[in-house]
Order: sequence, then structure tokens, then C-alpha cells
Amino acid sequence: MAHVLFVEDEENLRAAVGYSLRKAGHAVSFAVSGPEALTVFQEARPDLVLLDVMLPGFDGFEVLRRIRQRSSVPVIMLTARTDEVDTVVGLELGADDYVAKPFRMRELLARVGAALRRGGASSVPGEASATNAPLELGDLRLDPATHQVTRAGRLLVLKPRAFALLHFLMQHRGQVFSREQLLRQLWDDPFIGDPRTIDVHIRWIREQIEDDPSQPCRLRTIRGVGYQLVE
Ligand code: CA
Repeated sequence: MAHVLFVEDEENLRAAVGYSLRKAGHAVSFAVSGPEALTVFQEARPDLVLLDVMLPGFDGFEVLRRIRQRSSVPVIMLTARTDEVDTVVGLELGADDYVAKPFRMRELLARVGAALRRGGASSVPGEASATNAPLELGDLRLDPATHQVTRAGRLLVLKPRAFALLHFLMQHRGQVFSREQLLRQLWDDPFIGDPRTIDVHIRWIREQIEDDPSQPCRLRTIRGVGYQLVE
């Protein structure tokens, strides 16, 4: 069961979504303002954050920015206006996904489930210990439980999908994967079907884990085949 932090100042929506998330088997914490969102995030350490944009105090974009300074936990933004969608997509704030209001509860739950799977959280308790064990590769250390990657002790900044991709490659080090295989593994959203998406994420990972990202020696390109992560 995953722990979801739902940040929303509208009481009725908070009650309705909270009810549905719990019915779907998730634990739920709530926050009603920007500042409270950060406090609860710190204390509750949720597996996923469902974050409204318009909030008292400061808005959801600012909450996301501050969460991203310390965590790559999956975040789904709830947007009410088209310009908010533009901001989420355009600024690459590090949101995993967004859902436009008004939304169908079923769609919201499906997005939550998909983001949790990408984020590495498990809905099967027995599976959690196996998938949440920290992984090491040279001086790299990836901890799925805290969504943190460090290199020689220094915290790296990775967007949620780049984190999921690195997690997968570290679990399958030495194996060569095509772009299509990686897409199928990590992107269960049929609308994101462009294999070049993988190239972009590979570049982001290289910028963090390689001494010289243009001469990668850890995350190698295998010409005509795909990518391979090696020691
Ligand atoms: Ca609101």
C-alpha cells in the first residue's frame, strides 16, 4: 500500500479524493496550503504527492520546486486552467504527470497507480523489500525508499522518470536494452511512445553520473542496439 500526500484547499474535493484513494488501498495524508504541504511532506515521507496548483500561502509550483530540492518522489499536479498546464509542461518543473480539473476519479486513480509503479513503490507488501533495497554501482548509490541517488556521497538531482530509468538499469546492470524495451518497461502511458524520449533521459542521467557526459563510460551506447549500464 502506498502513502499519498494530497495537497488541496477545497474541502469537498479533499474529502472525495481522500475517500477514493483509501478505498483503492492507499494511506492518505492531507495538507491545505503551500507551507503545510512542505511540513507534512517532511514528516509523512509519502510515496507520491498529489498537488493542487492554486493554494493559500504559496502555490503548488513553489511546493514542487522545494520538494525537488530534496526528493524525486513522484508528483502529480492538479491543474484547473490551461495556462497552468502550460506551466507544468513548459517549465519542466519535475512533475511526473498532471491531471486537469474537472477529472474523473477513475482517471486520477489510474494516473496515481502508474506514477507509483514508475516511482518504484510497490502495492504488494512482499515485493517491497526486494525492490526497495539500496543498489550500488561503483561510487553510485541509489535508494528506492528515499528516491535518492548519491555519487561519492553527493546527492544527485534526477527527475522521476530518469530516476526510474537509472533504477531499472542498475537492477539489470550489464544487460543491453533497446529504446523500445526501456519504453515498455518504464512508460506505461501509451501516449508517450517516442523512443527519443529515452535518449533525453539517458542524457540527463549521464550529466549526473559520468565524469565526461560526452564520453560515457558507465552508461554506454551500444550502436544499433541500445544502452547498457556497466561498472
Ligand atoms: Ca485549490
